[in-house]
Amino acid sequence: MENLIIIGTGCAGYTAAIYAGRANLDPLILAGVQPGGQLSTTTEVENFPGFPKGIQGPELMMNMMSQAEKFGARIEYEVVSGLVQQTDGTFEVLTEGGKHEAKAVIIATGASARHLGLSNEKALIGHGLTSCATCDGAFYRNVPVCVVGGGDSAAEEANFLTRFASEVYLVHRRSELRASKIMAERLLANPKIKPVWDSEIQEYITDEKGEVSAIQLRNVMSGETSALEVKCVFVAIGHVPNTGFLRGLVELDEDGYVIQRQGTRTNIEGLFAAGDVADHVYRQAITAAGQGCAAALDAERYLSNRFHQ
Ligand code: NAP
Repeated sequence: MENLIIIGTGCAGYTAAIYAGRANLDPLILAGVQPGGQLSTTTEVENFPGFPKGIQGPELMMNMMSQAEKFGARIEYEVVSGLVQQTDGTFEVLTEGGKHEAKAVIIATGASARHLGLSNEKALIGHGLTSCATCDGAFYRNVPVCVVGGGDSAAEEANFLTRFASEVYLVHRRSELRASKIMAERLLANPKIKPVWDSEIQEYITDEKGEVSAIQLRNVMSGETSALEVKCVFVAIGHVPNTGFLRGLVELDEDGYVIQRQGTRTNIEGLFAAGDVADHVYRQAITAAGQGCAAALDAERYLSNRFHQ
């Protein structure tokens, strides 16, 4: 029986592990499908306090991991498929390969990239369709690509892709960006980025090898359609919380985010939530880390009251 299992290894999970480790709780972390979370697929992080020159996302996450391990956290590379509360209040954490038991659990599973929902989308992932410019940008040198979305992620991906691509089209369904002012200005000032306003992708067009070769666009104002040649589509239209395995046990809001009450507590005693899995408002690395800290403190208090830990 573990004292505390932390599900997820993003900023929230690792920060929770650092605090829980330092409280001698000997936490077990289950890494999930994307070890290191969303920052492990990003490039330069310029807004995490303490790094005035910026830091690469993967490096920041490796630092957090070693800091957690330094204080005794153990990491298992397992994906959680379910969670059950026993009659004595402890938890069974079901994974694809087995199960673990714990007195308390912190959910820090974050959120994953959203897709457009077009018919052949899933099959095209890795064949000219991706949500990670850092991972795949370098494969598309001197060819046209496009980014879909108008938020900070789209702006960041588009700017990054100009290092490789011949042109980066930014396809956005409105004519105004949602991205923060500084990111939007940087994007609009970049001569390699060509905004395609008021437009949506209707269809991905593929070549004889099944790779994306163009997109069919529709102007939402005029209804006009057109084809645009691109070798890769980078989808950056936001995220969905990774809470599928919690349905039926934990109170979720209409978009699937965990509902927190009194700090990081959920509706289940002994079960806490931190970071993007519960936060659709701030969604920053630093706010996720802050919530991870709070969840560890809440869990520590719970374990001490209930189990005299
Ligand atoms: P976001 O801010 O929610 O933006 C999503 C964008 O995708 C919006 O422009 C939205 O259009 C568009 N969109 C959503 N669904 C769509 C659909 N079905 N079809 C076409 N377009 C669609 O998401 P995000 O850019 O991933 O950013 C999330 C959070 O992370 C934000 O708080 C952001 O500030 C933060 N972030 C920060 C940084 C940084 O500071 N370095 C980098 C990345 C992200 P509408 O505008 O019309 O709604």
